Amino acid sequence: MKALVGTVVDWQGVRDSTAVIIDGSVIRDVVPAGSMGQYDVDEVYGGRGYLILPGLVNAHTHVAMAKFRGLGEDLPMEKWLGDVIWPAELEWTREEIHRWALIGMAEALSNGSTTVNDHYFFADEIANATLELGIRAFVGQTVMDSVDFPIAEPGEGFRFFKRWEGEEELVKPVLAPHATNTVSLELMKEIAEFAGEKNALVHVHLSQSRGEVLEVKRRYGLSPVEYLGKAGALGENLIGVHGIYLGDDEVRLYSKSGATLVHCSLSMAKLEGRIAPIIELVEGGANIALGNDSPNPVGLMDLFTEMRFAAVLNKVWRRRTDVAPAREVFRWATLGGARALKLRAGLIRPGYLADLVLVNARKPQFLPGEDVYSHLVYSARGSDVELVMVNGEPVYKNGIFMKIGKTLEELWEEVL
Ligand SMILES: [Zn+2]
Repeated sequence: MKALVGTVVDWQGVRDSTAVIIDGSVIRDVVPAGSMGQYDVDEVYGGRGYLILPGLVNAHTHVAMAKFRGLGEDLPMEKWLGDVIWPAELEWTREEIHRWALIGMAEALSNGSTTVNDHYFFADEIANATLELGIRAFVGQTVMDSVDFPIAEPGEGFRFFKRWEGEEELVKPVLAPHATNTVSLELMKEIAEFAGEKNALVHVHLSQSRGEVLEVKRRYGLSPVEYLGKAGALGENLIGVHGIYLGDDEVRLYSKSGATLVHCSLSMAKLEGRIAPIIELVEGGANIALGNDSPNPVGLMDLFTEMRFAAVLNKVWRRRTDVAPAREVFRWATLGGARALKLRAGLIRPGYLADLVLVNARKPQFLPGEDVYSHLVYSARGSDVELVMVNGEPVYKNGIFMKIGKTLEELWEEVL
């Protein structure tokens, strides 16, 4: 058995001098460090000054977009997507997607994400890259039919799902319609029906531009959330992303449905100069998760950074300092994501998945240590992560990706 020793921090509380005992892929027990001797432990990580966190759940990513970092800066969403990103994406080859997905995913993993929920083209290559690194991944093949985009052909979304369904413990296929304006109501109905039969997750961009809202209204006389409802997609298997133009009625409808809203505040602040009505969604009872979105426009696949921006931008957006407190933002990044993906993770408890992160907090920014949630949200960086464990296996340790025996620098050499 393995053990992590240090201060255990999950959304429910903080326990000093604690050992997390890991047996196979799950947490066997959480005990005072002094009682660790009762278990047959042969590998111990951490110690005094270390924090043990549930793995961060990166609930919306496009990791391969690491190739586009810095392209089309400071453009609004529709111009960024239509004039810069889509033309670049039409040039993708399978081999290139694999290389860039590997480095984008490695970046997220090294910064403490134990799970990614990725939405992209050539999804087999995204899934293969995750297996190489040993990260947990939910992967969807992006599809659309209202835009002529050969690499997003609708049939491939279903075929990808069937190829990966039940194949790998760490890779779960999901359905990934692109957005409410790029997928026809007919196709969205087909996807919702398929997802219903398979009890599969549906991961979709929702209300991410004003143009999207106007287009759905023009075509169907519906708001994006009403459109999802009409398609039969609105419910607890739905993971909607962004939601920055949701109206009040949509917030109510969405919150009641059991769906998750993935908040990517940095990405939306950069692309649209606004963020989602997260506080209203929380008040309505919606589940909130956090995602980095993609290296373009965000710049860094680091959920610690995302937590910091979520905490600050919600305060600015609402012009109130009492919203998005650090502990709640930490919950979104851990338990919120786990709940969205139906993972028994996000808390450090016996029986939960051993998807864990060890943070070396023996640094000035973690002093005095009275409010650990504040330090994690406002002071921590991904580079403070020393070890990442997925399914009970150390997959990133002291700068090395254990399954491939390479460092980030070596991956950097290979991608160029
Ligand atoms: Zn996205």
